[in-house]
Amino acid sequence: MAPNLKILILEDNESDADLLKRELKKSGLNFTAEVVQTRSTFENALDNFDPDLILSDYSLPSFDAAEAFQIKHNKHPDIPFIIISGTIGEENAVELIKAGVTDYISKSKLFTLSTKINRALNDMQARKEKLITDEKLKFINQELLELNQELEARVAHRTEALAESESRFRSMMETIPQIAWTNTIKGEVVFYNQRWYDYTGFNDQQTSALGFKAVVHPDDLKIGFDQFSSILKTGNGGEFQIRVKRADELYRWHLIRLMPIMDQQGLMQLWVGTATDIQELRLLQQYKDDFIIIASHELKTPITSLRGSLQFLDRIKDNPPSGALSKLIVQANRGLEKVNTLIEDLLNSSMANQGQLHIRQHHFNLSEVIKDCYQDIIKDGSYTVNVEGDMQVEVFADHVRIEQIVVNFINNAIKYAPESKEIRICIDKKDGIVKVSVIDQGPGIPPEKLRYVFDRYYRAESSGSHYTGLGLGLYICSEIIKKHHGQIGAESELGKGSTFWFTLPAESI
Ligand code: ADP
Repeated sequence: MAPNLKILILEDNESDADLLKRELKKSGLNFTAEVVQTRSTFENALDNFDPDLILSDYSLPSFDAAEAFQIKHNKHPDIPFIIISGTIGEENAVELIKAGVTDYISKSKLFTLSTKINRALNDMQARKEKLITDEKLKFINQELLELNQELEARVAHRTEALAESESRFRSMMETIPQIAWTNTIKGEVVFYNQRWYDYTGFNDQQTSALGFKAVVHPDDLKIGFDQFSSILKTGNGGEFQIRVKRADELYRWHLIRLMPIMDQQGLMQLWVGTATDIQELRLLQQYKDDFIIIASHELKTPITSLRGSLQFLDRIKDNPPSGALSKLIVQANRGLEKVNTLIEDLLNSSMANQGQLHIRQHHFNLSEVIKDCYQDIIKDGSYTVNVEGDMQVEVFADHVRIEQIVVNFINNAIKYAPESKEIRICIDKKDGIVKVSVIDQGPGIPPEKLRYVFDRYYRAESSGSHYTGLGLGLYICSEIIKKHHGQIGAESELGKGSTFWFTLPAESI
């Protein structure tokens, strides 16, 4: 059964009200009706009876339907309001409907009452449902709007955080001394740090047009490419060595290192690559390898000759030919002396390297110590040594070590400049600094080699050269001078000769 409908009837004429009720009953509606006639009872019923529908006569003695409608409309805008009258006229009816009245029925056509009530109730229901739907839609829209705003804020925040982390990452890559870059997962380079541009001399256009390939040594291209691809495939990172061309066209060895960068989920984001200049390290490695070959050779030569002398001595010991014994002893001593010097050099160099080269300083006359250094050399008359300059100068130094340096310079002049028969030694004193130079007129040293002659193990001549030596002499000299707070250096011109010099403070320190 349909729910009980509460109908408020505003009618001053009792028989008209009854007529209405009868008509309502006839239509089969399940309803309760309350009839009111005045404004106050109408207002009261609106609050207390709580009607679902209002049927109102058009003209009433105390107030009319238009006023009643307004009262209802202010309080309960949704309750349908139908005017029933025989006197209203078409024009008024249209006006009232425009103002919001639900419908109009002529008293002479009460048979349409139920149809109009049903339509009004349905309309109201539809309006209510639409209101609810609108309300829900409004709510959903609001939620969507908030969600959208939140998402936008999150995206903006994330973009900002990403930009910030990227810029931090890039600044970090600018602080390291190596060439650095980033690759996509597939290996494309997306960013190079400033060091790349400084080292290669490339600008942005050259970098994107030529890339890394253009600076890799042609002999290292294949190995570089193979290693790079295999590192990308494994995804674990790795390293390899290739030669990379500098802006001045010189190739230098570099250690290429590629490391994957993962996100928080462990997914690979990009590759970070660095190229570290290992030219000096490779050279040192090369020197060391050469050194081991040379040192073994250098030690073997005097030992072989010593062994020869001893074997010969053993054979003739019972009946030695005259003069043979002393000759063999001199020969054996020379061999021993050579071994001793080599071992001294090795010891000095390793002590110097560990900062354990000790010096014992005292005051002495420099020219006198220098003179002692070449007495043996000039004895056989093959060479002349001339000392010039300030013969009175006194220094505060370790005279044994200073002698060692001068002897080394003179021996090198003889060894590497054998055609230069005259060796000049200059002693200069200026502004509290004493400078000693040993000058030869030998073949000289090419500039690209000159800068390395004081390095440990360095020999300007190749390992196959006919000059013997361990490449330690000048290194030890430079360490001795460092201990004296002096300076050491060499100047040379190809075909004209070389000058090796050192300085010492003239006064005590
Ligand atoms: P060693 O003589 O044992 O090789 P040094 O340290 O004394 O080692 O010298 C280093 C290198 O410097 C030598 O191998 C040589 O090539 C170069 N050198 C030194 N003195 C001279 C010189 N007067 N003239 C030409 N080259 C020199």
